[in-house]
Amino acid sequence: IFRHFSKPILNSKDGVQRLYSSGIQRVTMIPGDGIGPEISAAVKQIFAAADAPLDWEDVDVTPVKGPDGKFRLPQAVFDSMAKTKVGLKGPLATPIGKGHQSLNLALRKAFSLYANVRPCKSIEGYKTPYDDVDIVTIRENTEGEYSGIEHTIVDGVVQSIKLITEEASMRVAEYAFEYARNNDRSTVTAVHKANIMRMSDGLFLKCCRDVAQKNKDIKFREMYLDTVCLNMVQDPSEFDVLVMPNLYGDILSDLCAGLIGGLGVTPSGNIGSEGAIFESVHGTAPDIAGQDKANPTALLLSAVMMLRHMKLNDHARRIEKSCLEVIREGNHLTADLGGNTTCSQFTTEICRRV
Ligand code: NAD
Repeated sequence: IFRHFSKPILNSKDGVQRLYSSGIQRVTMIPGDGIGPEISAAVKQIFAAADAPLDWEDVDVTPVKGPDGKFRLPQAVFDSMAKTKVGLKGPLATPIGKGHQSLNLALRKAFSLYANVRPCKSIEGYKTPYDDVDIVTIRENTEGEYSGIEHTIVDGVVQSIKLITEEASMRVAEYAFEYARNNDRSTVTAVHKANIMRMSDGLFLKCCRDVAQKNKDIKFREMYLDTVCLNMVQDPSEFDVLVMPNLYGDILSDLCAGLIGGLGVTPSGNIGSEGAIFESVHGTAPDIAGQDKANPTALLLSAVMMLRHMKLNDHARRIEKSCLEVIREGNHLTADLGGNTTCSQFTTEICRRV
């Protein structure tokens, strides 16, 4: 540890706070509820074994009661994220205290997390109907049908507005091409229904085309959402990076997760202009919480995405390789993957290899 410590650096060019000139970076950790603390501890243990130059800042996100009696999210999580710009988040139980915003929504707004990224890659040794899935869905995360503009026009008639802006469409399209380039991907496919929603999806598609024109090193395709669904379940290997409006991304990203074995092994990242938060997609698994049965893979692979985002590629590669190796060998699998290994044993096995 001591060799990392030297002079603190306050300014950074890439927005990631570097604490020490030797490169230790501070990261916000939201362990979450249910199995959250167990799988977060597993990630920390594996990162320590891999000597990842990170300093975790744990924050509690339990809503606090204000003087007016209303529950609010603790300021500490926003302060921490504003400082570190990078966070790892475990699952959170649906809030019990009423009257406060969901943390996901609050963080999305506060840090302008405009792109939700979900890489879905078949895990060797984990049996699923296809063994050659390698798809990344990039979902616009801030508008579309989820912009929350709904009202009753007259009794029995409700209207929900699908909001699409050039600004949000351009930035997510630009991110998709940048992602493709940085991750050696060959093709970006825009997923849309511009044949029906001519104006809204039409604008989204136009933005994707404009960005594609400026990124000719990456192949560009456009495809209707329904055609993507049909082809995806018949031959997922034909897809690479997909970029799409919010609602389509919500649905299609779960379909892709299903193709590789479900949410338990799927990582994700929320990328924004003011920061990035990486999280497992599964929930708090209350049925197995506190029993050392949880599989930490999804959170660990989310943390690997985070390492790549922080340009710590060597650590990312080693940790990912060790995790996938343990699964491929099949001797130390948690119950959800058909084995009887505990979360701690699985973690120790990964630590031995990094
Ligand atoms: P869940 O994902 O927690 O559990 C579904 C099933 O999958 C359970 O049998 C569980 O044991 C299993 N499972 C999930 N993750 C696992 C893991 N890492 N290892 C082994 N098994 C795992 O879904 P749920 O039961 O519908 O939701 C429970 C709570 O989680 C709810 O309060 C829900 O709102 C919340 N939730 C939070 C998030 C999030 O914060 N991102 C996402 C989904 C659900």
